[in-house]
Amino acid sequence: MAKRGVIIVAGGVGQRMGATMPKQFMMLGQEPILARTINLFSEALPKAELVVVLPEEHIALWRNLAARFDVAPHKIAPGGKERFDSVKSGLAALSDEVETIAVHDAVRPLATKKLIIRLALAAEEAEAVIPVVAPHDSIRQVEGESSHIVDRSHFRMVQTPQFFQAEVLRKAYSQTFSPLFTDDASVVEAAGHKITLAEGEEQNIKITTPIDLTIAEAIIADRDEA
Ligand code: C5P
Repeated sequence: MAKRGVIIVAGGVGQRMGATMPKQFMMLGQEPILARTINLFSEALPKAELVVVLPEEHIALWRNLAARFDVAPHKIAPGGKERFDSVKSGLAALSDEVETIAVHDAVRPLATKKLIIRLALAAEEAEAVIPVVAPHDSIRQVEGESSHIVDRSHFRMVQTPQFFQAEVLRKAYSQTFSPLFTDDASVVEAAGHKITLAEGEEQNIKITTPIDLTIAEAIIADRDEA
C-alpha cells in the first residue's frame, strides 16, 4: 500500500467568523475543531504522516490547547499569506517517502472516515481525486449590473479532502501563485493534470461563519444520538 501523507491547513485567520479566537480552535462538542479534524484523519488513515499548518503566531497557543485534549501525533508547519503558501509549507514538512498526499481544510471536521478511506483508495488509481456535491440552489452568473440564470446541473461544489499522487502535487506547487488557485485541484489542473470527481458528503461543511458552527453542533448532536 502506498505511503500516505496528510496536510491539514489551518493557516488562515478566519476573519469571516468575527471572533477573536481563530475558528479552527473553537470548541465543537467536547473538543476544538482542529483536534476533531486531526483525530478523524488519524483514525481513518492510522499509518499516514500528519502535518498541520498553523499561523506562526498561533503555534504556541495550539501546542497548549493540544496538550489539554487527546490529539493524535502530528507535525506542525508555519502557514503563509495565501492558502497556496500554507500548502507549500505543509509539503516541505512531509517526508520524501510519501507517495500520495491528501490536503484537507481544518475547518471541515465533519467529513466521515468512510469518505476519507473511499477517496484514499480511489487516489491509488488516479492523479487527483476530489469530493464534490451538486448545488441545491439556483445559480445566476453576474456581469456588472446584469445577471442571468445558468444550468445548475453543470456545476459541482468542491470539498476537501483532495487526494493526489505526491509527485503530481509537489510539481504543481512549484508554479507561481495565481488568484484562481482557490483549492489544490485548481493548482494541479493548471499544471496539466486530470482531476477525477468523487461523490462528497452534504455534512462535510466548511465552518466559515457563525451559522456554520450552529449547523455543525446540530450534526454532532445528531450523530451522538445515533
Ligand atoms: O480562506 P479559506 O476559507 O479558503 O480557507 C480554507 C482553509 O485554508 C482553512 O482551513 C484555512 O485555515 C486555510 N488557510 C491557510 N492559509 C491561509 C489561508 C487559509 O492554511 N493563508
